[in-house]
Amino acid sequence: MATESDSIRYLKGIGEKRSLLYGKLGIDTVGALLRFYPRSYEDWSLITPISEARGKGTVCIKAEVMTPVRENYIRKNMILYKATVRDKSGVMSVTVFNNKYDAEKLKVGSEFLFYGKLSTESFYAEMSSPKIRPAGFDYLRPIYPATAGLNSTALEKSVKTALTAVEPKELLPKRIIDENRLMSRSEAIKNVHFPENKELLVKARRRLIFEELFMLQAGLLLIKNVNRGRTPCVFNKDYTNDFYSLLPFELTSAQKRCIAEAAADMSDKRPMNRLIQGDVGSGKTAVAAACCYSAVKNGYQAAMMAPTEILAEQHFKTFSKFFEATDIRVALLTGSLSKKKKDELKKRLEVGEIDLVIGTHALLSDNVYFKNLGLVITDEQHRFGVEQRAVLSSKGKAPHLLVMSATPIPRTLALIMHGDLDVSIIDEYPKGRQAVDTYCVGSSYHERVYNYIKKHIEAGHQGYIVCPLVEEGEDEGSLISAEEYFEALSKNEFKNYRLGLLHGKMKPKEKDEVMRAFAKGDIDLLISTTVIEVGIDVPNSTIMVIENAERFGLSQLHQLRGRIGRGGFKSDCILISDSKTAKETRLKIMCDTVDGFEIADKDLALRGPGDFLGNRQHGLPELRIADLSSDLAMLRLAGRQAAELIKADPLLKAPENADFKAEIHRMLSRMKNN
Ligand code: ADP
Ligand code: MG
Repeated sequence: MATESDSIRYLKGIGEKRSLLYGKLGIDTVGALLRFYPRSYEDWSLITPISEARGKGTVCIKAEVMTPVRENYIRKNMILYKATVRDKSGVMSVTVFNNKYDAEKLKVGSEFLFYGKLSTESFYAEMSSPKIRPAGFDYLRPIYPATAGLNSTALEKSVKTALTAVEPKELLPKRIIDENRLMSRSEAIKNVHFPENKELLVKARRRLIFEELFMLQAGLLLIKNVNRGRTPCVFNKDYTNDFYSLLPFELTSAQKRCIAEAAADMSDKRPMNRLIQGDVGSGKTAVAAACCYSAVKNGYQAAMMAPTEILAEQHFKTFSKFFEATDIRVALLTGSLSKKKKDELKKRLEVGEIDLVIGTHALLSDNVYFKNLGLVITDEQHRFGVEQRAVLSSKGKAPHLLVMSATPIPRTLALIMHGDLDVSIIDEYPKGRQAVDTYCVGSSYHERVYNYIKKHIEAGHQGYIVCPLVEEGEDEGSLISAEEYFEALSKNEFKNYRLGLLHGKMKPKEKDEVMRAFAKGDIDLLISTTVIEVGIDVPNSTIMVIENAERFGLSQLHQLRGRIGRGGFKSDCILISDSKTAKETRLKIMCDTVDGFEIADKDLALRGPGDFLGNRQHGLPELRIADLSSDLAMLRLAGRQAAELIKADPLLKAPENADFKAEIHRMLSRMKNN
């Protein structure tokens, strides 16, 4: 008997050439072939009457042959066989091309199953080239995602061979199988490929979905535990309390709690791996600054990376002000510095003449060295890949790591997206923050909306108009690009005001210039696409108008709206939309609440998690059978059980977990290839 780790070349019928084709599908071992699950099934047990079959796509019809098969020679080497069949509901003509074998089976009076599509063109019921099986063939046939040179039937055959050659091994602990009433792995694998019946298929899938989500979550917890090796950067004293007196405001208790959690991590012998998750405007920067302060006072250097120059610059200014009365040396490193400045800065970093550096991706360059980097922070972490975080960390000896995210992720998903991080949540806003009022109006209100914007500007404030991205070739009837909108407003309604334009096609330098002018107050109204989404803090802006609001996701609207209401002035957000459905669902949620977590949870309920997990770079492996948009309950169940298992055996060292651990490593290694 073979084992699952044997090469698929072990299987009969798979030689060197074939094995290359399997390799293209990521199948190298017998086990990998068994984990290559069917995409769907041909259901030969679900019979459709002839009279109802038209327009239903692929169907299975059970019918009796009425007439002897007629042969037509169309041309050389092309014979067409025709027969007429009937069931209780009607009559159908069946055409078979060149398949003498199939044609000869069709004896008058005998009953067959015909699996195929009815022609939509002909007036009579007609099916061309159906798959034909004798009646009573009650069968779910697996359909595999095929690749060039390997069709579903070939895969089906190899899986069948594999199942006679190996007995799939159980991977999950017995207790977990019993407690969750799971099918054994062997039975599940057999039934997912060749279901004995539908009920067993459902059970098999349930077992395999559980297994996949269980392994994923156990794997992430395992990474977390492995990362917890010792760090040389133990902070002997926690200085974060001294930092409080440097601030021009009183920290919220949520901010203090997050700082305390991070401080506890940093005085531990293992490196911190912590995510600070806080809604837009909740004050994450101050938390980061407190940690930097403590790092520097403990004799280490700290580095903070932001996704854009303008954000890095903004942080640099904020930090410089916070640390004005201290001897902490703060520097800014971005790509647009002159080479001479950069070189000088790098030298000072290397010898330890700079305590805290704030920068963009420029920090990741090969020739940036630190003397003793003890703390690494990334802001807006979803904009960076896991590897980029790792590159910055590798510039020190196991420095502490803090990542900050303003993207509220539904709690259920946070567990898997941030499975390798500890999480602190800032669930409170600074005092004196005025909630933003949000309204939703139709496009007939434009005149009034413009007057409203002018009122805000006359009061000395600034504002934004956000337009959706217009894709090339899109029907532009109701949509207008930011550029055109800017032109129109500058000539008409807003010709006496200072307008700015910001969109994705501008060069980074041009964008930064506009943002800088806006931050300085030299622009009253900024017409923009969603490029303003990330982290910009201009407290003087008090109004935001979002055009075609139905085109944005809820979380995106929330991020956008977070750009206003930051300065203690009353702020308004106006969503413009003519979509009745959007107004009654998503946009209504925006008007009803400003709580990012509530919005994220509702967004998840409305759209499913695909948008959270699909578009964003998250570094998770592609799932084989589980679907995060429909298997949420299973995700939670498997997550709880995985946490329990890892708690009992943090590094999966117990011999009974060995197979399971090996399988997890195989799964996680797929993460790198994504
Ligand atoms: P975000 O979490 O979105 O990164 P910031 O850190 O940029 O938020 O903070 C938003 C604004 O709130 C900044 O202008 C900041 O100075 C201010 N702020 C932060 N914490 C407090 C606080 N405890 N009290 C008053 N203002 C605060
Ligand atoms: Mg921020």
